[in-house]
Amino acid sequence: MKIENDFNDYEAIGDDHIGSSSDTPLRPDAFELSNADKIESIKGDIKHILETLGLDLNDDSLKGTPNRVAKMFVNEIFGGLNPDKKPSASTFDNKYKYGEMLVEKNITVYSTCEHHLLPIVGRAHIAYISNGTVVGLSKMNRIVDYYAKRPQVQERLTIQIVRELQEVLGTEDVACIIDAKHLCVNSRGIRDIESSTVTSEFGGKFKENTKRRELLDYIQLDTQF
Ligand SMILES: [Zn+2]
Repeated sequence: MKIENDFNDYEAIGDDHIGSSSDTPLRPDAFELSNADKIESIKGDIKHILETLGLDLNDDSLKGTPNRVAKMFVNEIFGGLNPDKKPSASTFDNKYKYGEMLVEKNITVYSTCEHHLLPIVGRAHIAYISNGTVVGLSKMNRIVDYYAKRPQVQERLTIQIVRELQEVLGTEDVACIIDAKHLCVNSRGIRDIESSTVTSEFGGKFKENTKRRELLDYIQLDTQF
């Protein structure tokens, strides 16, 4: 019965990108295998997929693909599943007593849609209002990258970034907006090359209309360098 329910849920999701939880659904035994063992196992799986499709893996161009893809999954595009890769939480005192919002915009997002395993590519804009603690600007890029390097849905990615910064900064006053293209929408299925998806999470003071408006105005600033 359980299996049937799961199957129905899976069918119901279909091409729609609805996340079921704000935590990445990892099993408790997710890190029992070493990275080397994971690569070895996935290598065999990728080989099996390509062979099933009828490809000749003795071909010079293809023979390295299973190993290459397995390493890329474990070390790169899904490397952010591993809590060891979480950026360290170094913060600083807000010595300037800067009390307005700080916005870092146009942070590159490279993630992977967990429903199709195709790329999500876009920009994240992050804002916070310090209550006495600040983080280095590059820390925000690293947090985005860490949570992006997982099988993802964009809503969950947005929430995970906000939660992490709220914890690091010790304040609810954090917001994140992501505008991204999903290759599963752009390159297959409905094949809409122009569409992008915008998600947002507004914490604390960013729930107020004036702060939210101010943030959106900053994001729209088109400064030329
Ligand atoms: Zn997808």
